[in-house]
Amino acid sequence: MNSSSKIIELKGLTRERMREFFSSIDEKPFRGDQVFNWIYNHLEFDFDRMLNLPKSLREKLNIYSQLNSLKLETTQNSLSTGTKKYLFNTSDNRKIESVVIPEKNRKTLCISTQVGCPLDCKFCATGVMGYKRNLTTGEIVDQYLLAAKEYGKENITNIVYMGMGEPLINFENTIESLKIFTDELNKGLSRNRITVSTAGIPDKIRMLADSGLRVKLALSLHSCFDERRDIIMPINKKYPLKDVFEACKYYSHKTKTRITFEYTMLKNINDRQEDVEALIRLSRQMPSKVNVIPFNSIKHMNPEGISAELEPTGMSRILEFVDKLRTENVTVMIRDTQGDDISAACGQLAVKSIA
Ligand code: SAH
Repeated sequence: MNSSSKIIELKGLTRERMREFFSSIDEKPFRGDQVFNWIYNHLEFDFDRMLNLPKSLREKLNIYSQLNSLKLETTQNSLSTGTKKYLFNTSDNRKIESVVIPEKNRKTLCISTQVGCPLDCKFCATGVMGYKRNLTTGEIVDQYLLAAKEYGKENITNIVYMGMGEPLINFENTIESLKIFTDELNKGLSRNRITVSTAGIPDKIRMLADSGLRVKLALSLHSCFDERRDIIMPINKKYPLKDVFEACKYYSHKTKTRITFEYTMLKNINDRQEDVEALIRLSRQMPSKVNVIPFNSIKHMNPEGISAELEPTGMSRILEFVDKLRTENVTVMIRDTQGDDISAACGQLAVKSIA
């Protein structure tokens, strides 16, 4: 390698790619494992402090590579729940958000995969904001690294891909980030505590199933009827429910995991008796559970059109809805409106003045 070579960003390289990088600078591949260990287990981003590397190698790394971080712009704490929202600035001055949600025996990190989102789901604040670009693998994993640094690596127990963006549209970088999180050298994180949430892209769901990563899959369902889902989630026109369900069945079968159906309760849209009945029928089609989510208003985004008309289903109706599902043996839980007071609940992530 000569001095005109490109400087390589090491954050976001899978272990395999890390080993390839070391070979490319005429070093032994196992050095890649050592650096991977420093980054993901010791949360060390300064080559000069990676003391089991020879000094000459550390100098070489400072020339040929870098470990850049997202810049923390602000944080917001929810006093009621302990949920904390992070606003980061990327190197090209885009803004992204992630959230740490403390629960009884765990802390869940909710990460973004894109700046904004192209899907334009009518109930989603990120959708209203528009789409800018995919995040790099480094930017995706960095959200974890920075949260782990603050809370202690062992304390971030779960990762959900439920922040800004559609992970399966940024497919390659999502896969690379999952490879890093589930790497056997990355201590403490396990595939059954990682959930990828998607609006439903059948071929990508199948590819994720075939990847061997076997993480959990959540489908943002919100309606079992195409004509209704078409309206609130325009992507449904391209990938109708029948195809999405077939892909979910494939996923469940191949990975031996249960699919989570996320179901945000929208007044008079998806909270009717026929909606309960359709959910019951669906639940019998594949190993699954339903995650009922109270709708977090997005009025603060001043949305137009259908988005402006959406109202949350009241809590008593939600409880009735859930009871009916439970009576039919559907596994169902109601998601806490964590961090509602700081707009940090899922689907609330949107930077108002986007760079
Ligand atoms: N694009 C992915 C991940 C981001 S959305 C997906 O569609 O799954 C993460 C979850 O939050 C999804 O289930 C989404 O439907 C839900 N959500 C979005 N906006 C919401 C809102 N305003 N209130 C409640 N849930 C919302």
